[in-house]
Amino acid sequence: MRDSYRVGSILGIPVELHISFVLLLLLVFIYSLAVDFQAFIYLVLLFTVVTLHELSHSVVARRYGIGINRITLLPFGGIASMEELPSEPGQELKIAIAGPGFNFLMSGLSLLALYMLDSLPLVFPLFDFSISAPIDLLAVFFKVNLLLGAFNLFVPALPMDGGRVFRSLLALKLGFHAATEIATGIAKVIAVVFALLGVMIPNLWLVFIAFFVYLGAVQESEMLRINFLLSGIKVRDLMSRGVVWVHPEMTLEELAEVMLERKHMGYPVLTDGRLIGIVTFTDLSKVPRSEWSRVRVGEVMSRNLITTTSDADASEAFLTLAKAGVGRLPVVDGGELKGILSKTDLLRAIEVMRLKRLGG
Ligand code: ZN
Repeated sequence: MRDSYRVGSILGIPVELHISFVLLLLLVFIYSLAVDFQAFIYLVLLFTVVTLHELSHSVVARRYGIGINRITLLPFGGIASMEELPSEPGQELKIAIAGPGFNFLMSGLSLLALYMLDSLPLVFPLFDFSISAPIDLLAVFFKVNLLLGAFNLFVPALPMDGGRVFRSLLALKLGFHAATEIATGIAKVIAVVFALLGVMIPNLWLVFIAFFVYLGAVQESEMLRINFLLSGIKVRDLMSRGVVWVHPEMTLEELAEVMLERKHMGYPVLTDGRLIGIVTFTDLSKVPRSEWSRVRVGEVMSRNLITTTSDADASEAFLTLAKAGVGRLPVVDGGELKGILSKTDLLRAIEVMRLKRLGG
């Protein structure tokens, strides 16, 4: 099952809803129809605030030339998936602060508006989100921005913003590696405390956030380990050479033959020595068997090419593969196909280096 669903895009960045947000949406929708329509207003408000928060991260990241693959929205925040990690701690710091910073800016502006409308007392109590007049909406907007900003910034748990700020500050002193080691350790402790608190209070959100933080921290430290294991290894050391490629005019019938014979699940598609696409078993399996003799490779191949170069770091290629969710990367130097690097090649290297470098 997929865990998030695309709903649109803003500034060219795909926006996805995490399954938990979809479930919340359904629940609130049913609730708002049956009991109280206000619930729907809260949801739209939360959706808007979280999206703007993530866009702020994205805009700053782009300023440093870091592309954003997608924004995933969760009920308590979102994740802007960056194509690569910021190369300097200072950049990560600014990207991380941008989200909560925007929330604080919004809460400041709405506070000013409330003041000018002589409605300042509406901000108390802070945890009262009831709406009985239009002006209450402004007060709730203030509170949601303030709480969301504070929650994301002041909990020093990777992968939350506060954890990124914490890691980048540590990295300025200790370097990226040691900083991540410490930050992910602390994040796991915070996650466990959140989970226990969540069970005791009880508060389901807290348990959910704890789960999310824990998984995120495990992922970050695993990524770091892989970086360490693959350090010094280049794509050319692991790629397969003498690649079997196919022609776009080949029929799927013929492609199936090649797959049977060569036993690879994906092939680069070349024309006049130039790489124009990649065709995989998945592409083949989407076409009914009866049409294989008619349909050609060029019609089903994927043209959205994600490639690497033979001189690239293996750890970088691993990150590219993981983020793109593909099984293999064509290795292209100056327009010429030099080889193929598959996920299997990388995983094998990681296992061997694990034995070699960690001794078990
Ligand atoms: Zn954030």
